[in-house]
Amino acid sequence: MLPSDRLERRAELLELARRSCWDNVVRGRFKYLRVSVREGRVRVSCPTRVGQSELTRFIEANLEKVATWMHLQKIMLENRRKANPMSALLCDGGRVAYEGNVLTLRCDPNIDRTRISEDAKELCVKLAATARREDVSAIVQKWLKERFAERMAERVSFWVNKTGLQPKKVSASNAKTLWGSCSRNGSVRLSWRLICLPPAVFDYIIVHELVHLRHFDHSKAFWEEVNAIYPETPSVRRYLKNVRAADLF
Ligand SMILES: [Zn+2]
Repeated sequence: MLPSDRLERRAELLELARRSCWDNVVRGRFKYLRVSVREGRVRVSCPTRVGQSELTRFIEANLEKVATWMHLQKIMLENRRKANPMSALLCDGGRVAYEGNVLTLRCDPNIDRTRISEDAKELCVKLAATARREDVSAIVQKWLKERFAERMAERVSFWVNKTGLQPKKVSASNAKTLWGSCSRNGSVRLSWRLICLPPAVFDYIIVHELVHLRHFDHSKAFWEEVNAIYPETPSVRRYLKNVRAADLF
């Protein structure tokens, strides 16, 4: 790389860090201004008393550091993904996890629509073999989200009928760190990336969030009820210890 290229790259990284900081300012009852980067994501905690100019100075003073953290974590995340067979590799001949199995991606412009092959080993994507990563990603993601929505509708209604626990609303989330969440007003959100994992995990997360409608904590009573409704809970939880949503897709 030429020195001028490197400088340009550096300027890009700094600009990305600046934008990421400003997009992720959380104002609240914090003691200090603080910036953190986790799994490549930035968060600026800003006490309510801090004004715009002080915040700007803080972000500018920390920009180099944030850019370096973001860059290193991105490389780490990429390496982790490459080493994980469940991580999506979005190109012809690549792979994607679906319901706990790894499907090989096969790009073919001549098929009628994106679908699973008859032997259930490939996901045939309606695209040219030379398609860009972004295009493969968009189509595969859309296909996964559709499968997720179907499964979510079916499994949520199954567990609502079985438990009598009725959420106010259930919707898909794009969360990369949480598989599911339940708000105090009774809305349940489920990560669409659950469709990549074995169906038992999907069921467990639904049960977990539904039981939160009765116990808004992780108390002994909460776990007893989850285990009673879904006895596979301990094995699914062990399995989930080694899976990160951000690594899948
Ligand atoms: Zn919980």
